[in-house]
Amino acid sequence: MGLTVSRQDTVSSTDVRQMNSETHEAEALPLHVGQRSQMKRLCRIMRSKLQEVSQGKREALQDCQELAQRLEALLDDASSRRGARSSSKELMPQEVKDWLTKQWTESSARLGEDLSPIRGAGATLRSSRAPFGPELMEVLDKVGTPDIDVVAVQGQPEVAGNVTTVLFMYTLTNGGVFDQLPAETLADPMNAELFQDRLLKFVAAIEQAYLDVPYHNNMHAADVMMMMHSFLLSSNMSWISPIEHLMCLMAAVSHDAGHDGVNNMFHVKAQSLVALRYNDKSVLENMHCALAFELMKENEDLNWLGLMNGAFPPETPGGAPLDLRPHLRRSIIEMVLVTDPTKHNVLMENLKGLVQAKSLPGSHVSLSDPKQKQDAFNVLLHSADVSNATRKLPVALYWSRQVLLEFWAQGDQEKSLGLEVSPLCDRASGMKSVPQGQLGFIGFIVRPLFLELSRLLPEASQLVEQLGQTEEYWKEKKAVNASFEESFALLDR
Ligand SMILES: [Zn+2]
Repeated sequence: MGLTVSRQDTVSSTDVRQMNSETHEAEALPLHVGQRSQMKRLCRIMRSKLQEVSQGKREALQDCQELAQRLEALLDDASSRRGARSSSKELMPQEVKDWLTKQWTESSARLGEDLSPIRGAGATLRSSRAPFGPELMEVLDKVGTPDIDVVAVQGQPEVAGNVTTVLFMYTLTNGGVFDQLPAETLADPMNAELFQDRLLKFVAAIEQAYLDVPYHNNMHAADVMMMMHSFLLSSNMSWISPIEHLMCLMAAVSHDAGHDGVNNMFHVKAQSLVALRYNDKSVLENMHCALAFELMKENEDLNWLGLMNGAFPPETPGGAPLDLRPHLRRSIIEMVLVTDPTKHNVLMENLKGLVQAKSLPGSHVSLSDPKQKQDAFNVLLHSADVSNATRKLPVALYWSRQVLLEFWAQGDQEKSLGLEVSPLCDRASGMKSVPQGQLGFIGFIVRPLFLELSRLLPEASQLVEQLGQTEEYWKEKKAVNASFEESFALLDR
């Protein structure tokens, strides 16, 4: 069986009308960038296979059929999400795009001659007219602290659903990250304006790649990025370079891109395309990371990494210059891949190693030890990723409810597909034991992690204190056997 290229297959005008209407339907689908780039890739392969067919290689016909099936599966997937996406997060509205672009362009155009292109940009932007209302400015004031509430930012009308992009821009400029980048960051320092532009466009595109699922959506990306930023500002992180700071933000922002609201276990059980592609290993994490780099590869105007210096001056005299591009790529990949929850125990061991190294006299996380540095980045991203319960109570509760809703939706889907329901994903039993489930997660994962973290970053002891309050709350709810509604009643007030 296979496609035949013969007169019998001449396409009729009815077929053309049908195809046109299907094409229009496909164009109207809210494909995220990962799906779009996957489809483009499949089409490219199909074209070359068709070429082979026309050259008489009949074995390529089977390949064409398989490619068509994969394209169909991607379209089906996008169709099933259509309702969900159109109902909440807006695609970035043109006026926000215009405003963001204008902010960056103006700030760069007014650079003083005595400042390096990189160092001047943030300061100039800060002095420009604030485009935000007082309410949003008040919330944004908390950027750099664990008290930043991304749900509140997302709720502001000026943000128009683009919480990640807005917070990224604010962090980069008002947070001083951009100010501190050395001019040698770029291969050509005159490209500072283009670099800013690409960073911002990349984050906006990554934000669009997040789907409207209850938990792993663009707000989670913004939340993890913000927590990571606050960790990096710790007094014990003064060893981190501005380039590494930027890199960690980019890893955080990308770390769950394209997450479809079901976990690795689901993908493996369902033998989804993504599980097949990554051979059942850290399936989602591989996909998130690949998606970020594919975006840059396929869209030059998003490729901020490509502008970075291939010969960054060595840290020590006589050392070899560093090509920042593969260096940052490697580090981002590692950070994102270890956000796979099954890596928790390894990360705990790494964290203990860092704490021990720090406690030895005269020893600290060393700039000259790449493994120690990478361990620190990995541990911080993982900690930011599971930090929900360490936040102020209403924020902690909000995230707890969202993650449960996502787990239970997965369980529902597993039931409907006749698959075994994954642990924690059964709605009926989960609803009856919300406080117990929360206490279990805090006790096994969050508390040990943050206790150890507070030995590395003194500021994290505040988070341990806050975690104690969250635990108290859940103990009280457990004592009265609180239902799901009673557990989260605070959020409805
Ligand atoms: Zn995450």
